[in-house]
Amino acid sequence: MAELEAVIGLEVHAQLLTRSKMFCGCRAEYLGLPPNSNTCPTCLGLPGALPVINGRAVEMTIQTALALGCRIPEFSKFDRKNYFYPDLPKGYQISQYDLPLSLGGHLEFEVDGERRSCGITRVHLEEDAGTLHHAGEIHTAKFSLVDLNRAGVPLMEIVGEPDLRSPKEAPQYLRALRQLLLHLGVNDGNMEQGSLRCDANISLRPRGQREFGVKVEVKNMNSFRSLEAALEFEVRRQSAVIESGGTVRQETRGWSEAEQATVSQRSKEEAQDYRYFPEPDLPPLQVSRELVERLRAGLPEPPLRLRDRLRDQHQLAEEQAALITERPQDAAYFEAMVAAGAPPRSAANWQLGPLQALCKDAKLDIERSPVPAVELAGLVRMVEAGEVSGTTGREVLVEAFATSRSPVDLIRERGLIQVSDAAQMEAWVGEAIRQLPKAASDFQSGNDRALGPLVGAVRKASGGVANPDLASRLLRERLGRGGG
Ligand code: ADP
Ligand code: ZN
Ligand code: MG
Repeated sequence: MAELEAVIGLEVHAQLLTRSKMFCGCRAEYLGLPPNSNTCPTCLGLPGALPVINGRAVEMTIQTALALGCRIPEFSKFDRKNYFYPDLPKGYQISQYDLPLSLGGHLEFEVDGERRSCGITRVHLEEDAGTLHHAGEIHTAKFSLVDLNRAGVPLMEIVGEPDLRSPKEAPQYLRALRQLLLHLGVNDGNMEQGSLRCDANISLRPRGQREFGVKVEVKNMNSFRSLEAALEFEVRRQSAVIESGGTVRQETRGWSEAEQATVSQRSKEEAQDYRYFPEPDLPPLQVSRELVERLRAGLPEPPLRLRDRLRDQHQLAEEQAALITERPQDAAYFEAMVAAGAPPRSAANWQLGPLQALCKDAKLDIERSPVPAVELAGLVRMVEAGEVSGTTGREVLVEAFATSRSPVDLIRERGLIQVSDAAQMEAWVGEAIRQLPKAASDFQSGNDRALGPLVGAVRKASGGVANPDLASRLLRERLGRGGG
């Protein structure tokens, strides 16, 4: 039997970071509010309430589409997608069917360091549904509670072409898409909370065959890892069906994190099941060329290009450049540090190491760091110039972060500027040897490990300001091991 090949296409839903909902004035931010408090007659679907299009959501969708190289038709419209579910108060979702806001682009991403490209079928705009809280497991719960705070939140759908060929390409595609959305500032990228969601379509076919096989749609993955695991599971499951002479059933399956398996949810619905028709309460969207060109001109540098530029311009390691450009705030912080005179590689190390750890502990975004880029740059410059040791620098950063003070001011105030003055250093070295005679003689007779405590004693004698490299050099000389 011919070897089987996977064909995969992703449909990604991204909540837009607008202030208000898609068709009413309620807040788009819905987390942490009392149930059903963020609602109005329009998003509750009360009779007679009329929708109004959120212009910002349209702009964000066009921006995303342009960044993906899509075409923006001048004429587009909203349609009703009819279905019943308790989280959908109107009995239909306002979406876009045959005339979406954009068509035909592509997304570049990387798999094991190799560039790939995946076609983008369309990017369109719709509204999110509410949320249900089941009293127990969905099928056995005595009741379910409906919360419509999320109903009507602007939702952008990015439909990918079936261009992916293995489960491990899917999370890489999604990573690149998430990064793009973050750089555009249109979505917060939070998969755990569901503001970025992904459905995966997968079919198998004998390698070499042109026609696609029957596809299965998998829902419910809320991490990159579960996306890949769900697709790997489907490859195994569908292969087994085909190899035992059966046929794959077209259906929608859900990923169960607990079982690490996909579970059948329902047989696949067709477009006709939704009885799409044009939304009569909204005018068609006429997108002017001026608007498109204005939005195109305002697009940020594409993330992959930004990464390559920073890597080449500042001789960063590949991995460093990737981490520093993962989110636009990080790239901005890094570029501000470099502009303030910090040597780029050290700047990246200090930012990705100690600073990021402090931000994470404090649950603070880097752009709200109590130590701004210029200040950290000042500290890094002092460390690089040998004015303070790395250890002192890190201690000072912790304090500066906790107190919102300038690390450079703290160093000056505390007299922490590293001393390299010869006479001063000789005196501290002498004192260290007097205090640790055993370590001194051990080191003299060849025990290298005895040097550490001696350097520590020099630093202590100096109140932490002795240059540690110079201290160990002087100790070596004094103890007759200056040659090596
Ligand atoms: P549907 O009519 O079921 O919505 P679409 O043609 O609109 O199907 O495609 C939906 C998604 O499924 C797209 O992301 C597309 O790339 C993907 N897809 C389509 N056909 C296949 C296939 N045979 N195997 C895997 N993915 C597919
Ligand atoms: Zn509302
Ligand atoms: Mg479809």
